[in-house]
Amino acid sequence: MKKSDYYETLDPVNWVEMRILAHRMVDDAITYIEQVAERPVWRPVPNHIAARLQTPAPYEPMAAAAVYNEFLETIFPYPMGNVHPRFWSWYMGNGTVFGALGDFLAAVMNSNLGGGHHAAIFVEEQVVNWMKEILSLPKNASGLLVSGGSMANLIGLAVARNVKADFDIRETGLQNIPHPMTIYASSEVHSSAQKAVELLGLGNKSLHIVPVKNDYTIDLDALVAMITADRQAGFRPICVIGNAGTINTGAIDDLNALAELSKEEDLWFHVDGAIGAVAVLSEKAQPLLAGMEKADSVALDLHKWMHIPFEAGCILVRSDDAHKKTFSLTPEYLAHETRGLPGGHLWFADYGIQLSRNFRALKVWMSIKEHGLNRFGRMIGRNIEQAHYFGKLVEHDPEMELMAPIGLDIVCFRFNPGGLSNDVLNSLNKELLLQLHEQSIAVPSYTTLNGRYCLRIAIANHRSRYEDFDLLAREVVRLGRELITDYR
Ligand SMILES: *Cc1c(COP(=O)(O)O)cnc(C)c1O
Repeated sequence: MKKSDYYETLDPVNWVEMRILAHRMVDDAITYIEQVAERPVWRPVPNHIAARLQTPAPYEPMAAAAVYNEFLETIFPYPMGNVHPRFWSWYMGNGTVFGALGDFLAAVMNSNLGGGHHAAIFVEEQVVNWMKEILSLPKNASGLLVSGGSMANLIGLAVARNVKADFDIRETGLQNIPHPMTIYASSEVHSSAQKAVELLGLGNKSLHIVPVKNDYTIDLDALVAMITADRQAGFRPICVIGNAGTINTGAIDDLNALAELSKEEDLWFHVDGAIGAVAVLSEKAQPLLAGMEKADSVALDLHKWMHIPFEAGCILVRSDDAHKKTFSLTPEYLAHETRGLPGGHLWFADYGIQLSRNFRALKVWMSIKEHGLNRFGRMIGRNIEQAHYFGKLVEHDPEMELMAPIGLDIVCFRFNPGGLSNDVLNSLNKELLLQLHEQSIAVPSYTTLNGRYCLRIAIANHRSRYEDFDLLAREVVRLGRELITDYR
């Protein structure tokens, strides 16, 4: 290249080299997933690797191939583990290969989904319409793809607050309100609901926590009593949150009863379906979710049980008008037109907090088309079956104990050979869990139920096989027996 031809941009200087590198990256990526089960599920980032990720900001260029080599050495070998068949921690999905490629193409197009007339807007609209369809929400409901369940809950509760306030909350805010608003959810509600309530300026004291029954679903009698007492005390109850799959045990509240009650009490009915909403795709789980279709808003996650690569969540709101009224703000420089690029028919920026938004719809659209929703349903159904399969292994083993009813795909259990105090069992099981991780056997997580430390598996994993659960059961008992000598 003649020196005079060079014009500096951020494009590759040598397109041929970049093309070759890109092909290599795709090959490596496909092999990585193809062979995922052969690698450790998790391992710590060694200190010498971490040190390489603490160097000062680079001001001068480095060849793309060298940057990629650095990625191969320092980053790729130390994943969180949730791509692996024996990862069952917190609540995550595995990702899909085609979804990852979709994310790549979305980045290539680099579309901004705030609004305008371009194909990506139609893709997100179609994905949102599919979600309404599978959840049986009305065709004219509104929706938005968001980063995840936390953002979906925040948006749903924001609409709830604005609709149910008896004044223009966008105009006056929450200054000097005569009757403090209250929101209800069970003690098993996810922490993102509290974060939302705090961010909405209501204060977490306004989130009135309702006790649960033995199966960890909301106690409806207690809820009714609380609402009545709160009204008498001068509060303004505005919303109840129903859980469609709690984070601890996968419990599903009686959504029909909550829908009914919300109607009688003039409350907004929001469903947190981050875990369970998409389980309607499984014939087995669908009946458990009856009543969700009556919600005023539903938060769901596609990066959990639908395995779309992070981040992908969705909020659906029954009233398009209420949704739009909460978020729409159109300055002159964003005026919606009927022709040209600003001639878009749907401006997603009118339905959420973000103006600039990525094209996360593409990976969802491509994954769903590639597999079909029935296959997603089968994967969800199989995970539920695997939870019960593992539950039986626990129940039939005298050295393990099931700690809660199995909700959807979540099993809470512990090593308990008998004769040990609860305190000892708590610390023994905690140590056992960390050794499962450190020995790269499997990655369950943990929770505490009624003061008892539990091992917990959340099987949102399309790669797990039944043998993986046999192995977990064997290893828990082996490690437990090994550790017990330190505790007796
Ligand atoms: C994970 C989860 C959330 C939060 O979703 P993110 O996608 O992590 O933001 C909310 N509610 C429940 C029940 C969850 O399991």
